[in-house]
Amino acid sequence: MNIVELVSTKAREAGGKRVTSVELEAGKLSGVMIEALVFCFEAAARNTPAEGAELLVRELDGRGSCRGCGHVFALDSLLAQCPQCGGYAVETLQGKELKVVSLIVDE
Ligand SMILES: [Zn+2]
Repeated sequence: MNIVELVSTKAREAGGKRVTSVELEAGKLSGVMIEALVFCFEAAARNTPAEGAELLVRELDGRGSCRGCGHVFALDSLLAQCPQCGGYAVETLQGKELKVVSLIVDE
C-alpha cells in the first residue's frame, strides 16, 4: 500500500511532469486513517514529481452482501452480521479499496 509509489508511477506515465493534485478513494474498512495518509504522503512525496501535490481523499462507505440470503447492506466493520438473516458469511463489496482515481499534472 504505497500511494506515493503509485502516484510517482502514474506521473512517469504522464511524462514526468509535476503532479499538482491527486484524487484517492479510500474505503472506510481499509483501515486507512486519512489524516495519517495525508501526512505520510506529504513526507514521502518530497523530491518526487508528486512533491507539493494536493491530496484529495474520497471516502467510500462499506457495503456487504450476505452469502446466506443475498441481502446487501451497509457495513461498518469487516465482522458484520447480516441484519436480515443474522448470518456472518458476509462478502465485502465495497469499503476495502485504496486507489488513485485521478492525477492532475502540470502542463
Ligand atoms: Zn443474510
